Amino acid sequence: MSTLFRHLPAVDQCLAALAADTVRIGKTAQPVLQGVPRPLVKDLVNSFLDLVREEIRAGAFSDAAQLSLTALYPRMLAFVRQGAKPRFRRVLNGTGVVVHTNMGRSLLAREAVAAVAEAAAHYSNLEFDLATGERGSRYSHVEALLCRLTGAEAALVVNNNAAAVLIVLDTLCKGREVIVSRGQLVEIGGSFRIPEVMAKSGCILREVGATNRTHLRDYEAAIGSETAALMKVHTSNFRQVGFVKEVPLGELKTLASTFGLPVIEDLGSGSLMRFEADGLPGEPSASEAIADGADVVTFSGDKVLGGPQAGIIVGRREFIERIKKNPLNRALRIDKLTVAALEATLRLYLDPELAKAGVPTLAMMTRPLSSLRAQASRLAGLLRKHLSASLDGRLDVAVRRGVSRVGGGAFPEADLPTELVALRLNEGSRLSIDGLRQALLATDPPLVGRVEDGAFCLDPRTLDISEHALVLDALRQALGDD
Ligand SMILES: *Cc1c(COP(=O)(O)O)cnc(C)c1O
Repeated sequence: MSTLFRHLPAVDQCLAALAADTVRIGKTAQPVLQGVPRPLVKDLVNSFLDLVREEIRAGAFSDAAQLSLTALYPRMLAFVRQGAKPRFRRVLNGTGVVVHTNMGRSLLAREAVAAVAEAAAHYSNLEFDLATGERGSRYSHVEALLCRLTGAEAALVVNNNAAAVLIVLDTLCKGREVIVSRGQLVEIGGSFRIPEVMAKSGCILREVGATNRTHLRDYEAAIGSETAALMKVHTSNFRQVGFVKEVPLGELKTLASTFGLPVIEDLGSGSLMRFEADGLPGEPSASEAIADGADVVTFSGDKVLGGPQAGIIVGRREFIERIKKNPLNRALRIDKLTVAALEATLRLYLDPELAKAGVPTLAMMTRPLSSLRAQASRLAGLLRKHLSASLDGRLDVAVRRGVSRVGGGAFPEADLPTELVALRLNEGSRLSIDGLRQALLATDPPLVGRVEDGAFCLDPRTLDISEHALVLDALRQALGDD
């Protein structure tokens, strides 16, 4: 066995072979590892050779010829290609969860993608006032739009909604008490908890009411000389049912006004329009919160709004101006790509019909069942037609009813009816459903779906029709079917 090690090709030989290898793209030949940094290729070749050494030790080879460069080359190339892929990459979302926090939440509208590309590649008037040639404000590009869309007097945008809540509390309430209902002390995924954010911002949480019911008199009894604000938090990712009571914002506002206190509302997802006509329940919109008297409202840019990651703060000018001047604002500020994407997204909202068609999150949320049904049967047809080797008794493709979710802690109760493409493996298949699910995570691009009742299900709601061919290709790779 020890003599076999000597037959392994040298690293330099491997690198030379990889560098000389080309693929034909149209009429021109391109290096197979075009654009992959040399040091990365070298590391991967070393790892590959280590792997082969392990295999030699394990007795996987009997003959020196199996260890020639020619013999090892195809595996080596596949290994290097796989390892050279960027870590951060596109996936196909077949889960039907529209605002999937783990998969990047919202897809940007075409207009927003173009604005990001433009801002990324060129200098811009980010903080340069073209009217005066002097320094300008990065918020000016979106502030007027946000005011127009929400009815607020002023606005600013920070890194995300968690940052928005933090800076609002830090600016307006530090060292003093903020009154919040016990029923609203929420935890959002990724360990954002209202009591902890409150502690970080140096505020003292004053909980009132019971878990299920809070009355106006509870808030009133808690108001004292140390009170800085009343706060309402949208219970975005859960719903209380039964014997429950929350105080409406309007009543809180009336109470707060008699004591000269501001009302802060964290809307969480915060939409800019209503969705009842599309069969979704009524969720409070930012403009309603402003109209009902909230002095400061915060919400996410990349949940139901469908824009870039951002924390939007709108409200009364005197408060917004103070927040803008907080030194924390510098640490939490948005970059030019966010400004570009947000302005382009908000412009679409000026015409709600344009927004519903052009903002992918809204389009997916409001997609009619008839369209989902058509897409499910199209995708199922494509798979049946082209996965013939697997279909030969091994795989079964069906369309069936199911539900999708908005996700992102929005509309937690809403089941969106959909039609799923359900893949079932027959007895005798060497792959289990969980094995298939796992194998699809390693395809290019990876395909994520959900396993329900023993079937691997794909929801056409979150798959663009242009992605159907990629879904087929991923399944081919995972099933080893060609
Ligand atoms: C999602 C959410 C947040 C955090 O928003 P991010 O944009 O994820 O930082 C805060 N509060 C509520 C109520 C939320 O739903």
